Amino acid sequence: MSDAFKHSVALVTGASSGIGRAIALALGAKGARVGVNCHNNRSAAAEVTNQIEKAGGQATVLQADVSVASEVDRMFAELATAFGNRLEMLVNCAGDWMDKTPIIECPEAHWDRMFAVNAKSVFLCCQQAARRMMPNQRGAIVNIGSVAGHTGGGGGTVPYAAAKAAVHTLTRGLAKELGPHGIRVNAVAPGMIETPMLTGRVPDDARARLQATTPLGRFGLPEEIAPLVLLLLDPSAASYITGQVIEIDGGLLMR
Ligand code: NAD
Repeated sequence: MSDAFKHSVALVTGASSGIGRAIALALGAKGARVGVNCHNNRSAAAEVTNQIEKAGGQATVLQADVSVASEVDRMFAELATAFGNRLEMLVNCAGDWMDKTPIIECPEAHWDRMFAVNAKSVFLCCQQAARRMMPNQRGAIVNIGSVAGHTGGGGGTVPYAAAKAAVHTLTRGLAKELGPHGIRVNAVAPGMIETPMLTGRVPDDARARLQATTPLGRFGLPEEIAPLVLLLLDPSAASYITGQVIEIDGGLLMR
């Protein structure tokens, strides 16, 4: 991988935990200046920025609910205050899953929340990023989709799966729209990854069944997602890759 990350400005949403945290730390270690977005857990985000700074990098905490346009506007303004009015890389990682709820019992609020947090947030952040990347005719965006966006989920999580399918479609559409401006847009679609999102939501029997169904026989780790995201962000290594949704699921989608 090139050292194209050095001094570039990157923003990672949902970066106080799980996959986003691993991506922010990896970007910081490569020399990027990292905006570490969090929703409520500011102290966890501060721990991420501290870790980046201790390793010699630069980072800043950006607290914002990325499903709300005014907060996204403020977040990008704060990023510009910290690192100047430029942005080379955006990773849309903020998201949330849901407890299993059969469609006949699923409240409207579940649907609205899943789409706000998982899909609308990607639209809002891509819009702000594109406004900053277009004048420079370069940039890279990686959205975190999900295997559920292909499969419809494991039953009872249709609003989440539909929102992730929207992320995949947004990725392809924006790749077409922004490609002529030198901006690449890709997504990764993780399978089951050991993060706080799964805590308390995957009973032991379902865990054992899913692991047995996964060709690699286990759930993945956030640190196994970050290298693929960095590869897609890299302007040299991934210079001709755009509009792709890349599976990173231990082979789960094939089963
Ligand atoms: P996680 O819970 O550790 O991370 C999600 C992060 O998003 C949290 O830090 C949370 O605070 C943040 N967030 C939620 N709503 C937000 C909002 N409105 N504004 C700002 N931040 C908000 O879980 P994770 O597994 O690391 O999830 C990261 C992404 O990966 C999510 O988009 C998730 O859907 C996706 N994903 C996860 C898995 C998995 O198995 N863990 C599988 C496929 C996709």
